[in-house]
Amino acid sequence: MLKLVSSRLFDRRVLQSIRHTCDGSIEMAKDNLTAVLHGIEDMRLEQRPIPQIADDEVLIAMDSVGICGSDVHYLAHGRIGDFILTKPMVIGHESSGVVTKLGKKVTNVKVGDRVAIEPGVPCRYCDHCKQGKYNLCPGMVFCATPPYDGNLTRFYKHPADFCFKLPDHVSMEEGALLEPLSVGVHACNRAEVTLGSKVLILGAGPIGLVTLLAAQSMGASEILITDLLQQRLDVAKELGATHTLLLSKDQSAEETAKLVQKIMGGEPDKAIDCCGAESSARLAIFATRSGGVVVVVGMGAPEVKLPMINALAREVDIRGVFRYCNDYASALALVASGKVNVKRLVTHHFDIKETDKAFETARKGLGGAIKVMIHVQPRDTNNPCKF
Ligand code: NAD
Ligand code: ZN
Repeated sequence: MLKLVSSRLFDRRVLQSIRHTCDGSIEMAKDNLTAVLHGIEDMRLEQRPIPQIADDEVLIAMDSVGICGSDVHYLAHGRIGDFILTKPMVIGHESSGVVTKLGKKVTNVKVGDRVAIEPGVPCRYCDHCKQGKYNLCPGMVFCATPPYDGNLTRFYKHPADFCFKLPDHVSMEEGALLEPLSVGVHACNRAEVTLGSKVLILGAGPIGLVTLLAAQSMGASEILITDLLQQRLDVAKELGATHTLLLSKDQSAEETAKLVQKIMGGEPDKAIDCCGAESSARLAIFATRSGGVVVVVGMGAPEVKLPMINALAREVDIRGVFRYCNDYASALALVASGKVNVKRLVTHHFDIKETDKAFETARKGLGGAIKVMIHVQPRDTNNPCKF
């Protein structure tokens, strides 16, 4: 008879069995359903032990986990550059959850707090860490970047100082979206977007769109965003892009640069590549005003051909972006204050038991998918204000 219990009922039973104990911690059931990538095209849902926490860690009952392009890439190819999947890895890194247990030294969060999880934890000891550029730490432990496990699982442990308490009016989904939004904030910081900036954003996928939102909030007065898909540009327009430009793959970068300048009524002083195509990085350089900044977020081929003489002779700075660094708090402030609304990015919702379907949707862009959200607990369980 037990086998006939529906999965929904099972979820509810699991949640009901989470209860407070007299020491304030939360005791939970033994179910720790986890999405594990075993190899190319081999994702499995399996039970994993509930982790034991260290003194500076918290145990988190996971709530929402967004699917990122990198998760899809590991599923399809088993590697990104030098990061190669050599053993099974828990997938997922855009996430939020509820604190269920505290390590002895934890003071910044409490049991029951709803938190966004910054998924990369640096060594804290190397020169980069000490100089505040911890995203460059060679000892970085980053969720779902081999060999480290991610957090598409029911219970996950994390250092408490990389957890950010969400105010009641910020949903768990928005908490999960602080991850890509932090990339956008970091990219705009690297580009030095400021009041009155004219910004060209190349690519209107999730990263291009969060960069658009970040650039707006930092005072950009004009933002032109490009893509190969009109549907994505329509969303960018909805989110407030001042101009959109539909490109085709065969257009020359030099010609397109002139078109960009015509549409914007002048040259952009910042260009942020958010797609990783060679043609896009070339366009970014040709289009940007002398003395301006080109920031490359998109990760495409390991080597590309760029107009270096054009860039150097016009002192156009080319800067890389690697994830984010001290940007989560700003991203949260943007969302909490209402300056940035990331909700429109979420187009699909799935339960963790539908992980395969969720990945299929993200991968093929089914139904105009932008951000696909996986729910480890039933939707809105932990949202005082519904998503
Ligand atoms: P995505 O694939 O969902 O979106 C990319 C968008 O760019 C798509 O809408 C696509 O149609 C468009 N595009 C493709 N070629 C184009 C071209 N030549 N000109 C204009 N648009 C073009 O990816 P995403 O999740 O938005 O991520 C964007 C890029 O950022 C990826 O390369 C990803 O690997 C990278 N990324 C980098 C970092 C970092 O730390 N540097 C972090 C996250 C993502
Ligand atoms: Zn370090």
